[in-house]
Amino acid sequence: MRNIVAGNWKSNHLMGDAREWMNGMASRLSQRGAVEIMVAPPAPYLAMLASEAPVGVSVIAQNVSAHGEGAYTGEFTAAMLRSCGVAGALVGHSERRAMFGDTDEAVAAKVDALVGAGLQAVFCCGETLQEREAGRAEDVVLRQLQSGVLRLGADVLDQLVVAYEPVWAIGTGRTATSAQAQEMHAAIRGWLGEAWGIEAASQVPILYGGSCKASNAAELFHQADINGGLIGGASLQPEDFWGVVEGHPAKRTEA
Ligand code: PEP
Repeated sequence: MRNIVAGNWKSNHLMGDAREWMNGMASRLSQRGAVEIMVAPPAPYLAMLASEAPVGVSVIAQNVSAHGEGAYTGEFTAAMLRSCGVAGALVGHSERRAMFGDTDEAVAAKVDALVGAGLQAVFCCGETLQEREAGRAEDVVLRQLQSGVLRLGADVLDQLVVAYEPVWAIGTGRTATSAQAQEMHAAIRGWLGEAWGIEAASQVPILYGGSCKASNAAELFHQADINGGLIGGASLQPEDFWGVVEGHPAKRTEA
């Protein structure tokens, strides 16, 4: 099983900050144990950071085009990411779904583009507060998974990471309790198992995201079906991000 802590900087940090972050990470990496570290910087820095990142940090994009090469001004393709040494991309983040028109169909096309290029797809899913309060959280997450990833062949599962991010917990300081998160992660694991069999499904990392930080990471990451985290605000400073990595049991046991 892969254990992953991934940072999503969103639209934060200038180039100098990005380089400092990498330096801050480089000095800590020998202590990472069996934790894989990913970071999703803003697009302008991807090629540079991918070539400069220390061994042990995978650089991924926050987005990718749903299209191939061609007349799509402002877009960048999965093949372009690959040619720059970028390892993959986030897809279906709730901010892109809510603000930039990423429909289930567009998200599915982006997943296909990444998988087709041999890259990692970090597939984000999660319900809004309204959906949770209406008792529809599982229906919503299942629908997102069905259109986004459950249709993939079992042969590409090593390119898939699922991130459950309840929208009401993202950037709000309101974290899902470890029991709430584990409940949804177990449901997700079950749906992956129905699609590909229990054995294969158990190899797909399922990350939790939503106001995860050093103070709550350990409790979340100790849940049976939580294999790590996708971290927004607490990924911006190396010391905060490292505090989250420290909460991962795979860091403690194998460092
Ligand atoms: C995110 O945007 O993926 C996220 C989890 O943000 P935050 O940690 O700031 O809630």
